[in-house]
Amino acid sequence: MQPIRYVIVGNGAAGVTAAETIRQHDSVGEITIISAEPFPMYSRPGLAYVFLNEISKEQVFARQPEWYQQMRLNLLFGKAVSLDVDRQAVQLEDGRILPYDRLLIATGARAVPPPYAGADLKGVHYLDTLAGTKELMKQAKRRRRAVVVGGGITALEMTEGLAHHGVDTHYFLRRDRLWGKVFNDTEAKILEGRMRQQHVHIHYNTEAVEILGDRRGRVRAVRLKDGKEFKCNLVGIAIGVRPSIDLVKDTPIETDRAILVDETMQSSVRNVYAAGDCAQVYDPWTEQHMLDILWPSAVAEGHAVALNMVGKHRAYKKGSPFNACLLFGLHISTMGQINPRRDEDEPEIHQYLSRGSSEVWYTYPRHYASAWAEEGDNTIRLVMDGDYLVGALLVGDQTIADPLRYIIENRVNFREIHSDFSIGGLALKRSVQRFWSKSNQSQAESYLNP
Ligand SMILES: Cc1cc2nc3c(=O)[nH]c(=O)nc-3n(C[C@H](O)[C@H](O)[C@H](O)COP(=O)(O)OP(=O)(O)OC[C@H]3O[C@@H](n4cnc5c(N)ncnc54)[C@H](O)[C@@H]3O)c2cc1C
Repeated sequence: MQPIRYVIVGNGAAGVTAAETIRQHDSVGEITIISAEPFPMYSRPGLAYVFLNEISKEQVFARQPEWYQQMRLNLLFGKAVSLDVDRQAVQLEDGRILPYDRLLIATGARAVPPPYAGADLKGVHYLDTLAGTKELMKQAKRRRRAVVVGGGITALEMTEGLAHHGVDTHYFLRRDRLWGKVFNDTEAKILEGRMRQQHVHIHYNTEAVEILGDRRGRVRAVRLKDGKEFKCNLVGIAIGVRPSIDLVKDTPIETDRAILVDETMQSSVRNVYAAGDCAQVYDPWTEQHMLDILWPSAVAEGHAVALNMVGKHRAYKKGSPFNACLLFGLHISTMGQINPRRDEDEPEIHQYLSRGSSEVWYTYPRHYASAWAEEGDNTIRLVMDGDYLVGALLVGDQTIADPLRYIIENRVNFREIHSDFSIGGLALKRSVQRFWSKSNQSQAESYLNP
């Protein structure tokens, strides 16, 4: 029997995890990874830490060139530009044609440019690729005044990085709350305090409508909605990401906002699979195809898709959403459903992580109870659905983050401490800790649902 030819377009979290998993199950298959970026795999979330000089540019690489050799993976640098699903072949920009037996599209997502004029000017930057981040770091040394636009984590990370490099940094927000789709007022105020300590100027209810350039095509200002001009020479844009799905444009592969895949991660065309940011995965909970723009999801999908590509039929089950980040020295973790509907009359709130247009932080039309604790810069927000913890958001102290995540993911019955919810404050944290030490991981099994 001929070895199976696996072709993977994309050298990110999903593509590399898939390649590694395929190799574990198929020692003779030919595995080729196509990468549009001329590097071994790097950590995209790590870019924010590179920008902050927290880690070096070398430390961002999650794999070394030797790893590909050891795993017998053929890493090809080049951009895949077209796909012939009848002939089962992918074509690269330089004309090379790669036939496949099983194809994985794991092309990720890219930052969305602003929907107004000026996006092409020199001095407009994004934080989504290694090359882009290196250029941003170079420019941050030269530019005096920056404007950052966007409401989610990436915009905040950019703001922090620019301030760290000594740039006079102005953060424009359309609304009146930081990270408004996730934070409540208290959480937002804590972050605001940290940002002001680092001399970031926050401009609420301020909307850019155009980026203006000088005669040499370089940013000189942004025009605001009220018509005023705000002088600056660098603009950071982080208004969301868009799945990279150009490759399937002229094919019968079904798409919505990304490539639609079933529970086995297969697209509407046989032998073509998709995973990571460019896939919209069927979610049995909501009976919809959802985008899931998160690193752990890309890894989990990469693993699941590989098992299906080697012929082991495995339905992908989406885990509980989780994200941890460090912003202006504040540790923040978000898990599960964190912003439930409070009132019958209120429309259902769909909760987004704002890491692009991820939809994983959604709520269901049920009734929730929530508990709240606050002490200085530390907050705990817990969300219960009946006897179960379904979401949590921690700012500052992360001592109970891991237990909470375990309790949410494994649907551990939390009834025992439900009555402590009304206490709030530090007692709530102690109550969770007591609960956790009583039911350590092995004992916790007995709390699991049958
Ligand atoms: C600054 C930043 C911070 C982030 N922080 C977090 C975080 O804290 N937590 C979290 O969970 N998530 C975070 N994310 C999101 C996370 O990085 C992504 O969800 C994850 O990287 C998706 O993995 P992927 O493999 O689907 O895509 P990617 O990692 O984007 O990889 C896609 C790969 O495909 C290649 N490619 C694309 N098109 C082609 C083509 N036509 N031909 C060949 N190759 C192609 C690209 O070059 C790339 O190698 C962050 C993202 C950014 C940008």
